[in-house]
Amino acid sequence: MLFPALHTAQDAPALRFGDRALTYGELARIAGALAHRIRSAVSEPPRVAVWATPSPETAVATVAALLAGVPAVPINPKIGERELAHIVADSEPGLVLTEPDATLPPGLATVPRLDVILDAGTDPVSLPEEPDEEAPAFVIYTSGTTGAPKGVVLPRRAVTSTLDALRDAWQWTADDVLVHALPLFHVHGLILGILGPLRRGGSVRHVGRFSPAAVAAELTSGATMMFGVPTMYHRIANEVEHDPELAAALAGARLLVSGSAALPVHDHERIAAATGQRIVERYGMTETLMNTSVRADGERRPGTVGLPLHGVELRLVDDRGTPIETWDGETVGEIEVRGPNLFTEYLNRPDATAEAFHDGWFRTGDMAVREPDGYVRIVGRKATDLIKSGGYRIGAGEIENALLEHPGVAEVAVTGEPDADLGERIVAWVVPNGAPPAEGELIEHVARLLTPHKRPRVVRFLDALPRNDMGKVMKRALHG
Ligand code: ATP
Ligand code: MG
Repeated sequence: MLFPALHTAQDAPALRFGDRALTYGELARIAGALAHRIRSAVSEPPRVAVWATPSPETAVATVAALLAGVPAVPINPKIGERELAHIVADSEPGLVLTEPDATLPPGLATVPRLDVILDAGTDPVSLPEEPDEEAPAFVIYTSGTTGAPKGVVLPRRAVTSTLDALRDAWQWTADDVLVHALPLFHVHGLILGILGPLRRGGSVRHVGRFSPAAVAAELTSGATMMFGVPTMYHRIANEVEHDPELAAALAGARLLVSGSAALPVHDHERIAAATGQRIVERYGMTETLMNTSVRADGERRPGTVGLPLHGVELRLVDDRGTPIETWDGETVGEIEVRGPNLFTEYLNRPDATAEAFHDGWFRTGDMAVREPDGYVRIVGRKATDLIKSGGYRIGAGEIENALLEHPGVAEVAVTGEPDADLGERIVAWVVPNGAPPAEGELIEHVARLLTPHKRPRVVRFLDALPRNDMGKVMKRALHG
């Protein structure tokens, strides 16, 4: 059973979006009734799209689809025509569930629409019997950071095992109230941020558009934890130094969690200095849900994503696929994982699915080192963050972290580009903090902090970095 509290916690708060709130009893009645309608309305392949605005309707639609045993395909409401056409053709939804006042784009015109009505007067219904653990729960499209988004088929077992492993790592209980400001069409915002609290029997408050002040207001009125992406913590780091109220609100949180991309060490340290609170970082993917996390009762070491979660096996392999046994904090390898948290396949892409596995292990495409106590430190993505320069393999993240310590740097992305002598030369794309610092000064700064061969050869200044809706830097958009 995915959500035991739907059967027991009648009057307890479940969801709140702005001034619209639902108790568990209301959620059980509304989503239960909707689940029966979904079951009778969809045929083969049984799938429903969810027009995933940050709304209670999206949460209710997703819970209803799960109760019905019909896989949900969450769709970014800001999606472009071409990507939407791909997702509709690829996933063939039999229905699109949406808020009553949403205007859907022409790309969804061929899909029958079912409006989600939040009528608290709905009569109780018996909840349908839930399907087998291996049945698909979702098709979620990847962020498209490195290429066209792929539809990831996630079984119910992946959802329950990841959420229960996080309960263990974060001591997550029904008493926790989560502050949420993320979109609802990716794993982070939907599975962790909505289904996580509901599986625990706790509650979630979505604040709509993220702002440090909105988060602080919830944390000072009963919320205990926050999930965010690094761009949010970057804004918090900028503001918290001269905002004592924000600092006090964050200091009082039980747990601040970051994920979806690497949290810069500099931001982690600035927030720690102003609040005494160290952010807990976790590492996951659409294909694997969560793989590792720093534990609530563990050491919150900046720049690391902690230890493999309960049930997850993790190893590093070298270029030949041979496991690396040394945990010296220096030997870089690709992360491979195995466990109940994994997806079953990429939808309609048997070749991509086969390629993604190596002897039964999923190849994440992420490179990392392990510290002597097992903590995982991610170096970056194999495809974009590992620079081969002058015979060295250099991780972009370390250079980015060093540059962020320079007062003239607000944001940075480091990439490699072809170079006749070096193979690749290191390029730093810098959003300056005020007047741009001299190029030579930034190069020297890295050479001094790290080692000379890790210094950028070129610095390019930009007004903003290209980012996707999760705030991830799209490095492939940097080289024109
Ligand atoms: P695509 O696969 O379409 O290129 P994507 O990989 O960004 O997009 P997601 O599945 O949403 O799509 O993101 C997973 C990736 O995010 C991981 O492979 C990893 O590179 C990155 N990531 C997630 N959490 C962390 C973290 N804590 N630190 C560093 N990287 C992270
Ligand atoms: Mg990916």
